[in-house]
This record gives sequence, structure tokens and C-alpha cells, in this order.
Amino acid sequence: MVKKSLNPLKIDYRKCIVEDRLLQIRNERIIDVADPVKVWTIDIDAKDSKKVVDFIRRFTQPNDPVPLMHVKRIKKKNAEKKILCVLICSVELAREKSEVVSFLQQEVPDLKYSNLENTQRVPRQAAPTKELAVEWSNEYWPLTWYGNPNDQILNDYVFDMDLIKFLLELISSRSRKELQKGNGFPIVTAFVNPRDTKNPIISVDKRDHHDHTLLDHSIMFGIKSVAEREAKRRYQVEKGEKEDAGSVYLCLNFDVYTTHEPCSMCSMALIHSRVKRCIFLQPMIKTGCLKTESGNGYCMHNNRKLNSKYEVFQWIGNEYSTPTIDENVCC
Ligand SMILES: [Zn+2]
Repeated sequence: MVKKSLNPLKIDYRKCIVEDRLLQIRNERIIDVADPVKVWTIDIDAKDSKKVVDFIRRFTQPNDPVPLMHVKRIKKKNAEKKILCVLICSVELAREKSEVVSFLQQEVPDLKYSNLENTQRVPRQAAPTKELAVEWSNEYWPLTWYGNPNDQILNDYVFDMDLIKFLLELISSRSRKELQKGNGFPIVTAFVNPRDTKNPIISVDKRDHHDHTLLDHSIMFGIKSVAEREAKRRYQVEKGEKEDAGSVYLCLNFDVYTTHEPCSMCSMALIHSRVKRCIFLQPMIKTGCLKTESGNGYCMHNNRKLNSKYEVFQWIGNEYSTPTIDENVCC
């Protein structure tokens, strides 16, 4: 993590563009939605606040599936009697009251508290603007303001621009060659293992080939190829033909470069494969499944209904031309 001012990359935080070329793709419909979640709260005597805050830091905060870093943990309830209301955790960490009681008993056995309840709701995510943070604080529960959380996210991303450019050139030139060869679906994807960036797997859409099926989109075929390469590697290690450089689990933390915005099947397959990032060249307004304005706006990589997410960027420069695909084709 570097300070924003020291980041060597040029980042336009307002437009969410890195190096004038990589446009961050997010689900724009959920950016300013509080999506409140219920939380467990207790009332305590002010003198016990340190004890409870320690417990939260140690126990509930690291385990809570809802990151509540943007939420103040304590608010005054009765100033005269020095009673504080403390937010323990979200209901997604503990569904039942008995679970919270047992946490407290186990971790802070001598704490005296009252009113353990889950009637309070807090925004699930940090507000994107200070104004909204104030509004949500008034409506739900006091929040802290550390700046737009997406600025930090953008600042923390790591980009090897030379490698990105190399791979985009590779897939775009290959897609033009595929068109020349008569492939009716000149869609190309590169899968890059972060531990082996020199050997990307390049996969081409195969649904035009007589011995392949309609589901052999370049991404589906690429995922299959990653698994095949891993099976072969394990076999070679077993036979002593190759040194064991560590196994590959699905496509965990892979970067994926693709010529056209993936369809719902492929973007979901990337979720299941646990990729880290997808960079695409051409948006597919009717059939794509990543941009807010593409397809039905599902934004597969940044959808609250799914547990897993990945980063997505669109290359917005015109350096890498790719064949135009019919707008009704799923890529
Ligand atoms: Zn597809």
C-alpha cells in the first residue's frame, strides 16, 4: 500500500481510470446504496468500553463477513448515566442471540451488559461521499469518514503496464488472425498465472470447429486448458520429470485478458474459477455481463448476491483493434 501522492501510476480517481487507459468497471447501481444490515448491540457502562472494544478488535471484527470498518462501534445512549450502546457484530456473523451470549461469556466473562438486541441497522458499505456519510449517519448509525473507499481500492491495485500491453497485443493480433483464417468467432483470451507470467494460456473460441460444442467460448475453453496443464504438471512431478513448483488451484488469482466482454456463462465461470482480474477490450452491450450498461446489468464480478468477486477493467485506448462481433453473440 503506497500513499496516494506517491503512487507512480497516473490514476484519475473521479473517472476511475488508470494510466488514461484502464477504466475500472463497477456495478454503478450499488455504489451509493446503503443496503443496510442488522447488527447486534448491547448497552454497557462507559467504564467497560475498553474491554468491549478489545473484544471486538480481537474477536468479532476479524471474523465478521460484513466489514464494518466504516461504522463507529460506540454511541452514547444516556450521557447522564454514562451508558453506551456498543455494536458487537452483524447478524451475518451470529444469527442467533444465544451465539452472541456465548461469545461474550467466553471472551469477556466479567462484562455486565443489558439490552442485547438486533433491531439496529447499519449501511453494509462505506459511503462514497462525505455528504452521504452524514446522511447515512443520521438515518442509521454514526459512521466514520475516511474518504471515498474506492480511491483506496484503486490506489492499492497493482498494475504491470508492460505485461498488460504485451498480453493485449497478443490476444488482439491473434483475434485478427483467427478472422483471417475464417473463424466466425474470433474471440481470444489469455489466462495468466501470477506465479508464471511468462507462460500464458491463450485460448480461442472453438464453437465454429466441427469437433467442439456451442459452449466452447474462449473463456470456457481457457479454464479447461488451465486444468489440463495442471493435470499434466502433476503427472510430470509424480514421475520425477519436473520439479514441484507448487500446485495451481482452479484459476486462483489468475489475470484474464480477453478481446470481448464476457457473456453471463463465462463471467460466472470466472467467479467459480476464483480469478483475480479480468481486462477486456471490446464491450458487448447486448450480451456482456460486466458493465452496468451491458446486457441485463447483472455486473457478475461485483454482484452482492454472489460471495466471490473479481476486479474488472476495460482498456479504453484504441491501440489494440479486434474484429467486430455481431452484437447478439455471447462472447
Ligand atoms: Zn461466453
